Amino acid sequence: MSQEVRVRFAPSPTGPLHMGGVRTALYNYLFARRHGGKMILRIEDTDSQRFVPGAEEYIIESLKWCGIEIDEGVGVGGPHAPYRQSERKEIYLKYAKQLVEAGWAYYAFDTAEELDVLRKDAEAAGQTFAYNYTVREKLPTSLSLSKEEVEERIARGDIWVVRFKMPENEVVEMDDLIRGHVKVNTSTLDDKVLYKSADALPTYHLANIVDDHLMEISHVIRGEEWLPSLPLHYLLYRAFGWQDSQPQFAHLPLLLKPTGGGKLSKRDGDKMGFPVFPLFWTSPTGETAHGYREDGYFAEAFVNMLALLGWNPGTEQEIFSMQELIDNFSLDRVSKSGARFQPDKAKWFNAQYMHHKSDEELAELYQPILRENGVETTDELAGKAAGIMKERATFIGDLWDLTSYFFVAPTTYDEKQTKKYWKGENPARLKELREVLASIDDFSKENTEAVVGAWIAEKEYGMGQIMNTLRLALVGAGKGPGMYDVTAFIGKEECLKRIDYILENLKPIE
Ligand code: GLU
Repeated sequence: MSQEVRVRFAPSPTGPLHMGGVRTALYNYLFARRHGGKMILRIEDTDSQRFVPGAEEYIIESLKWCGIEIDEGVGVGGPHAPYRQSERKEIYLKYAKQLVEAGWAYYAFDTAEELDVLRKDAEAAGQTFAYNYTVREKLPTSLSLSKEEVEERIARGDIWVVRFKMPENEVVEMDDLIRGHVKVNTSTLDDKVLYKSADALPTYHLANIVDDHLMEISHVIRGEEWLPSLPLHYLLYRAFGWQDSQPQFAHLPLLLKPTGGGKLSKRDGDKMGFPVFPLFWTSPTGETAHGYREDGYFAEAFVNMLALLGWNPGTEQEIFSMQELIDNFSLDRVSKSGARFQPDKAKWFNAQYMHHKSDEELAELYQPILRENGVETTDELAGKAAGIMKERATFIGDLWDLTSYFFVAPTTYDEKQTKKYWKGENPARLKELREVLASIDDFSKENTEAVVGAWIAEKEYGMGQIMNTLRLALVGAGKGPGMYDVTAFIGKEECLKRIDYILENLKPIE
């Protein structure tokens, strides 16, 4: 790529960032890194009505958690600062006026009531009202009023907006890096508001184009919901005379519900029990939403899963580190059609990352849970226990249930297992086994297995009965890894203690 790649993630702080938004940020980041370019974070907060306190902080924390680094923008600074649109307020009016002067836009003074009348008239005639070439000259606009009247209205403080003067019956031809060549007839489009005097703020369309231009954005990679705005954006570049340096566009496919039909929403998550947001969220009014982080997902697994929702590497590979994603990512492998989210696949990714963690990494993640459960142990033992059982875990939170008996002796016993094994000759044989274990000096997994195995063979006892009875004594249930993993882990003294405890406290089943 000859031109410097500069991409931006431009969220509006209207609530928690949806996982679809995180994917947009991720693809921008991968594209920037792949091409040695810059990733910019711009906060588009010009819609004061939809502004939600805390949303911006949430966005920044989410990106950080995912490992999506910002080179320039809010929280980082850079040559085009400020990057928060509300702090760039003064910039936009000049551009709105420039469009009016060039005949590409006009002032409109109509009131909500006037528009309502027109809307109702249209409905009565069985039509939908559109603010476009059919009405703009009939309404009080700078197209219908004299120059003097327009100036007078503005001077006396009337409320006005600047609207784009969408050409009538012109075909706009556009190129999208994912969708290819797209054509739209302008007669199907309306005259969008670009600037509002009421709050002295631009709308999304004007601020977005002006900022992309001033910030020298080379590629706009964003969600498919913005595709209908593309003709207007093309025309705005033309109206400003910036078409030669306008960015290239790529509109990403939607994330679809697990059932396939429609956009993935928070409601789907609530219904089916999966998060649609990266982090736990509490709204200013106290509503909450689940987050991947708090639900126990690893950031790397979440990112890996998201990367493959809409992009494919062209191979069978599914596990990618961030660096591998950067090395492999390209927009031409992003699909045109929506990507269906599968909650089980998200869990699968997490399990894969879980299984690849070293004992040291696991220890660090597991220690807080052990402490919460009143267990004080070394990192070595915490990591070892987690390492033995990680293949059966999807989340770090699963480990306690899978490994608690390594640290805490059972005092209650699983009913089903008790009924099955704590009867007949088993308690007496466990007593015999106790003596065999007591005689072993080298309590390593291999040696204990060899000694106990030889004893069972010599006595011609049933291996299953003996082992399951021992499991009941040491684990308190029918679960757990190989028995000799447990004996070696807890050691001889603890083994004998647990056996003594069950012999003394659990009444055999008649
Ligand atoms: N502020 C818009 C949003 O919230 C940005 C769209 C764009 O990237 O142009 O999605």
